[in-house]
Amino acid sequence: MNTKPAVPESNRIRSILVVGGGSAGWMTAAALARVLGPAYARITLVESEQIGTVGVGEATIPQIGIFNRLLGIDEDEFVRRTKGSFKLGIEFVNWGRQGHRYFHPFGTFGLNMEGVSFHAYWQRLRLAGQAAPLADYSLMATAAKRNKFMRPFDAGNSPLSYIAYAFHFDAGLYARFLRELAEARGVVRREGRIVAVHQRPDDGFIESVQLEDGERLSADLFIDCSGFRGLLIEQTLKAGFVDWSQWLPCDRALAVPCESVPELTPYTRSTALTAGWQWRIPLQHRTGNGHVYCSEYLSDDEAASMLLSNLDAPARAEPRHIRFKTGTRRRLWVKNCVAIGLSSGFLEPLESTSLWMVQNGISRLLSNFPDRSFSPVIIDRYNRVLAEETEHIRDFIILHYKATEREDTPFWRYCRHMSIPERLEEKMRVYAHNGRTFREHEELFNDTSWFAVLTGQSGPPETYDPVADLLDFDETRERLEQIRAAVASSADYMPDHRRFIEEHCAA
Ligand SMILES: Cc1cc2nc3c(=O)[nH]c(=O)nc-3n(C[C@H](O)[C@H](O)[C@H](O)COP(=O)(O)OP(=O)(O)OC[C@H]3O[C@@H](n4cnc5c(N)ncnc54)[C@H](O)[C@@H]3O)c2cc1C
Repeated sequence: MNTKPAVPESNRIRSILVVGGGSAGWMTAAALARVLGPAYARITLVESEQIGTVGVGEATIPQIGIFNRLLGIDEDEFVRRTKGSFKLGIEFVNWGRQGHRYFHPFGTFGLNMEGVSFHAYWQRLRLAGQAAPLADYSLMATAAKRNKFMRPFDAGNSPLSYIAYAFHFDAGLYARFLRELAEARGVVRREGRIVAVHQRPDDGFIESVQLEDGERLSADLFIDCSGFRGLLIEQTLKAGFVDWSQWLPCDRALAVPCESVPELTPYTRSTALTAGWQWRIPLQHRTGNGHVYCSEYLSDDEAASMLLSNLDAPARAEPRHIRFKTGTRRRLWVKNCVAIGLSSGFLEPLESTSLWMVQNGISRLLSNFPDRSFSPVIIDRYNRVLAEETEHIRDFIILHYKATEREDTPFWRYCRHMSIPERLEEKMRVYAHNGRTFREHEELFNDTSWFAVLTGQSGPPETYDPVADLLDFDETRERLEQIRAAVASSADYMPDHRRFIEEHCAA
């Protein structure tokens, strides 16, 4: 029997330094400590209170549940401690055209029948003028409209067995919560501002970072979670940046909390404005709001006054300005440094994907975990896989801008007529032809998400998927009506969202 370790002791990663204590840094430190444990490697996190964190990032997608379970987090405690709420999807207002709204729910629409997708049957009825609105076939969309929420339970074939949800939470409280978990598992936190990064003279690998007081922190593996500045990955290792602002031209955001209102909506709202969009994220103690906009078409003052005039309640602070450039690092892993979080690039938060990208970076790092030889085979694979995944998300976000009839401002005229990546163009062409949508490889957004946004923002397709003809028309109509009725009665059964929180996880 071979009992030798895969990697000789001398070649094992013994120490990891996480640079940055925002959501990315603490998510990374907590997950590495949970999976590797202190016996495998010493994990240190350095952050600077003086620099602070970006302080936004409050809406998530259901995959965050997988991350929480990995960390052994009790969900009620998590919601209570982060003053969070539950999220069933996103309501999009004024995107396809002014005055129009639709819902992108988690989970699926309806049920596939006879091996054929529900989407195909719905398009068939829709083109015959006999379909109910798409949202009526999703429990998440129907419950969201009525401010209802509960977790799924075993209710047989009922939609109540398949409730899919995510969370809204206070980003500052989230980082604090994760910090406690990480420190309890042996992560050592260092306070201090990094003023220099030292590289090995022979191969350029990072050797140590130097704090203001002169102390040097060295490690085998460095995780750059330093935010937009990319202290290690860009400023030191010059990974390079791929700019996507020709497709996603927004480059600024303003964030402001306001008082919460009695109705606690279990969804994020995204309202398209004249040169960007506004988010609304309800938490237990306040509502988070922000305006993402394009500085070429809108001044900061105009953006601020638009944001403040669209709040449901008085603002609790002055709006905070954030500048960004949309795109990705050319390589996310260079030598002995992996960039996770805003240091790796940025896609605007329209579909709440950034924290998922942090989670995904961590999980891909763990499944490609290196030894001290840092084989290029591993690094190249990591970089390729993450680049592909990021491009798929980018395309999904571009879709929201491109699939519009809006021509009412120069910004929307630009978006409507801009050229787009070839793969996205093909998806839009296929949908326009027969209403089909696809998930490519392992991309994050599945065919339901593509269907929700394409249906929500584009006109009807020319025709429908011919396999939907396998079922008799009247029977199709009846079966869809049964699904719609099951969704409606399931929503009746669910409690009010605020009441659910009060019973289980009130802060
Ligand atoms: C406007 C906006 C809205 C967003 N909304 C969402 C959302 O709804 N959902 C979502 O999933 N994501 C969202 N995001 C993204 C999300 O905020 C980030 O992915 C997440 O907060 C992670 O940020 P970070 O930890 O990488 O960076 P930061 O929060 O910027 O943290 C950087 C850390 O590095 C430290 N640091 C930097 N330089 C030094 C130095 N020299 N020495 C020592 N320490 C240093 C800082 O002190 C800080 O601790 C949003 C982002 C923006 C800009």
